[in-house]
Amino acid sequence: MNELEDDNWLNKKYINCPSCNETLLVCDHSPFEHSYRLYCNTCPKRVDIGLYEPVYDEIESVDDLSYDNLLLEFEKRLEKCSCGGQFKLNAARKCLHCHTPLSLNEEQNVWLGNYWDETLNEEQEEFVEQKMQQFIVKPKWKSK
Ligand SMILES: [Zn+2]
Ligand SMILES: [Zn+2]
Repeated sequence: MNELEDDNWLNKKYINCPSCNETLLVCDHSPFEHSYRLYCNTCPKRVDIGLYEPVYDEIESVDDLSYDNLLLEFEKRLEKCSCGGQFKLNAARKCLHCHTPLSLNEEQNVWLGNYWDETLNEEQEEFVEQKMQQFIVKPKWKSK
């Protein structure tokens, strides 16, 4: 297989924020990453929902739900984001630097521009990883 094509199967691309001009990396959510994500409607945080959350037991006919409907079920059960916003299906992706909404689609995730930069040394990589982790939060479910 062509290495370049192989490398870019998630449509990885760099964009510049229209507002602050910082570089961001955008790519499709990997189908091999078995998780769902919802973005906050006011800040750039996203919640990553893995396959072993207790919430699946609470959702009726969970196996029959479409992707959108499953995410709507999550939406209802999630606690608010730490910023006071809500994790919503179809919430706009936002610049990680200035929080400006970006016109991206539901499939696309936003990363720091130097995430996956192969020229970084280990220390720099760790720094970027930690910075990125502040935008990816674990789900907190409302207590019933
Ligand atoms: Zn920006
Ligand atoms: Zn938020």
